Amino acid sequence: MTTSVAVLGATGSIGTSTLDVIAHHPDRFRASVLVAHRSVDALVALCQRFRPDLAIIADASLGAELARRLVAADVRCDVGAGSDAVIAAVSGPLCDTVVAAIVGAAGLESTLAAARAGKRLLLANKESIVMAGPLLLDALREGGGVLIPVDSEHNAIFQCLPGGRPDLNKAGVRRLILTASGGPFRGRTRAELGSITPDQACAHPKWSMGRKISVDSATLMNKGLEVIEAHYLFGAPADAIDVVVHPQSLVHSMVEYLDGSVLAQLGNPDMRTAIAHALAWPERIEAGVTPLDLPRSGPLAFEPADTDTFRCLALAFEALRAGGDATAILNAANEVAVDAFLAGTLPFLAIAEVVEHVLAELPPEPVVDVQTLVARDAVARQAARKVLHRAYC
Ligand code: NAD
Ligand code: MG
Repeated sequence: MTTSVAVLGATGSIGTSTLDVIAHHPDRFRASVLVAHRSVDALVALCQRFRPDLAIIADASLGAELARRLVAADVRCDVGAGSDAVIAAVSGPLCDTVVAAIVGAAGLESTLAAARAGKRLLLANKESIVMAGPLLLDALREGGGVLIPVDSEHNAIFQCLPGGRPDLNKAGVRRLILTASGGPFRGRTRAELGSITPDQACAHPKWSMGRKISVDSATLMNKGLEVIEAHYLFGAPADAIDVVVHPQSLVHSMVEYLDGSVLAQLGNPDMRTAIAHALAWPERIEAGVTPLDLPRSGPLAFEPADTDTFRCLALAFEALRAGGDATAILNAANEVAVDAFLAGTLPFLAIAEVVEHVLAELPPEPVVDVQTLVARDAVARQAARKVLHRAYC
């Protein structure tokens, strides 16, 4: 029997890698639902190749155009438009597995809906768990499905723990050690980061990714979001999560046990490994990834993270320790600041300043439900825009 997979964010970096793994295993997996934001051309091309049951364009104004273009391309599949269509698709019978690979807070409601519906949830969209960790865990319990992390660090930790996501105390775990490549500006001083351009920030030395996560990697906010993600996914307190910079990006993360053992997962930096693992778990399948050749890989180095230069990592730890919805506030402010940086209206170093201002302005409130959280996300975005206008326009 083939597994039907809904790929949310099908036209993006993770979506493309997911479809590549699926294409290697037509006997096992079928891309039954494809979702993109605005790129009608790219979605139509994917539909021609993968013949899904349903194609959805999240920008509702483009639904008629998608339908017309699919008919012209001789693709017969149902067409949906708007975020309600995405929610209905991930909750309905057309998929067993949902790959949550939309970028940013825009992925929150579909991630929650997939969890509530008890689907096998392959989580790449880290912003949704950073925003709504407790609500996502509730939704998973309610739905009774399984979550398998796709983010490479969390996928590595999942692989190094017994039985996926156990109680860490019972499993004898002392710490989770997240590795970070250090991004394109590792070793630079603040003075050297004053005039960084978006293209420089997006030129990651090891991973090829979408622009938002590339900027997050350059500021180390990505690692900060991943610390928060690890806290919710594995139930580790902030004090039991460490970050170590490992520029080769071959060790994807580690788990340290009470007896001193440290288990690591290694592999070439290619997201298809984590995606194939998550799709097939607990089995293993071919991912199309070049095998790791350690004798030719050169030395593996490890160093501490420079949180004075890369303030975003320290801010993420502070938000996690502050509790409540502080991590949602951090995420919203960061999304606004990264958009402004990518648009050329905010200097690179000011991303951390905007996030810090907004966190100071909005003390945390308890996470109650999605509606309250979405409203707080909007308030944080407005506060971030005010800081931007006041200080940088
Ligand atoms: P990307 O920018 O390459 O792709 C984003 C995808 O989301 C596109 O298909 C786009 O059409 C879709 N999208 C954007 N806004 C949407 C909306 N409002 N509604 C529906 N779809 C929308 O991003 P990416 O690099 O593939 O990252 C996707 C997610 O995976 C992010 O949360 C990122 O942090 C996470 N992630 C990515 C990588 C990686 O290697 N790229 C690794 C780990 C985690
Ligand atoms: Mg990662």
